[in-house]
Amino acid sequence: MNLWRIATIFVFWLSVVIPSHAQQVGTSSPVTVIQGATLIDPVAGTSIPDSVIVIEGQNIKQIGNANNFKVPTGARVIDATGKTILPGMFSLHGHVGRSEGLESGQQFYNRERIQRDANAYLYYGITHMISLGLDWDPMYGFLADQRAGKVGGAHLYTGGLGFAAIGGWKPGGVEEINRPGNAQEGRELVRRALQKKPDVIKLWVDDQGGKLPNLSPEIYGAIIDEAHKNNVKVLVHLYALDEAKELMRRHVDALAHSIRDKEVDEEFLQLAKDNKVTQLTTLVGHYGDLAYAERKTDFLDDPGLPILFQDVVLQRLRERRARTQQNPELGAVLADTYLAPIRDQFEMALKNTAKINAAGIPIAIGTDSGGPTQFPGLWEHREMELLVRAGLTPMQAIQAATINGARFLGLEKKYGSLEPGKAADFVILQADPLTDITNSRKIEQVWMNGKPVEREKLTLKPSASLP
Ligand SMILES: [Zn+2]
Repeated sequence: MNLWRIATIFVFWLSVVIPSHAQQVGTSSPVTVIQGATLIDPVAGTSIPDSVIVIEGQNIKQIGNANNFKVPTGARVIDATGKTILPGMFSLHGHVGRSEGLESGQQFYNRERIQRDANAYLYYGITHMISLGLDWDPMYGFLADQRAGKVGGAHLYTGGLGFAAIGGWKPGGVEEINRPGNAQEGRELVRRALQKKPDVIKLWVDDQGGKLPNLSPEIYGAIIDEAHKNNVKVLVHLYALDEAKELMRRHVDALAHSIRDKEVDEEFLQLAKDNKVTQLTTLVGHYGDLAYAERKTDFLDDPGLPILFQDVVLQRLRERRARTQQNPELGAVLADTYLAPIRDQFEMALKNTAKINAAGIPIAIGTDSGGPTQFPGLWEHREMELLVRAGLTPMQAIQAATINGARFLGLEKKYGSLEPGKAADFVILQADPLTDITNSRKIEQVWMNGKPVEREKLTLKPSASLP
């Protein structure tokens, strides 16, 4: 054997043996075991009682039941007996960075508020969230830093600036979004929008009952087609059944609100199935002021709110609650005028949610959280509660909040449930949401990347003055 050959073998030995030895040293990375909790598995639709979760580094290494499980020696063991563990949650429709106190608008949009909202979502165990269609350049700076591991909070995704008709819907009062006048312009604007690499595309197809111009099927069909050519999914804000059907004929990927004008029919359900459409229900958004009218505002007592939001905002909302509580007549007047259509639309949304769920069409959590008083993170838990009110089982509501969202984003191999090889992102609850869905708010800890999040340090309150 000549020297050259020996050298080659030595180099080969270096490249194979050294890294594998280095990896062995790497296995001394801390192993944590959480045992005794009930572990909810949204993929199987079951839960594992008395579970054992082995976490190595940022990922789940093993999962099982304590009866047939050998806890690795030397591991740090955390006893979670009596607790329930839920995978990190997904919200596919909210808006970050644009509200302050009881107001919202483009003028507030900045990095600090994006970070504040990302923190609020994470505080409540929402580890992934899509900000849907009102994001300006500060979002892309935030995302570059977050994806490089420089800043924390929930993983955010963006729809950049969405698409609506010329002279049509002004989302959040904003005129300057993408407004194509024909199909060709629609395609060009999609190509231009995609240069910034948004994660999804957002459409607004809503003529406010014939009051506003709307995107034509030809234009939104071209937008959807152009986005799909670039492997980007399209979500649509909408209201009406007929628009939903036409959008699904043009292969839209998700309906970002419930249908509220009519009951969904067989044709709708078949189109949704054929096109693998995901329904985001945004029930909590449609519920809106009904919560105050119906005096169902116990969410204002959630212990997280004083940590995340200004006292003055919470105080004003409590006063609003107190007013309707003390003056039932005021409630009746509101119900006759302002509240009646909201109630009708909400009831229709509940009915349609039940039908869509019964047809096996995937529902994922979307809430429109992030606007004033629409508390980011907390709203996602209220959405689960309203899904149960619509007729979903608690497990189905949890599936909507976890694996269905992960699948929509194509992240189900790493997130959305707890399995070996997936990220150790989860929420430890003090009580079981399968027996009462509101137990999902009894959060003891949120874990992300194999470590507990310091939730009380996520506070990033704005300045005390209210705009
Ligand atoms: Zn929205």
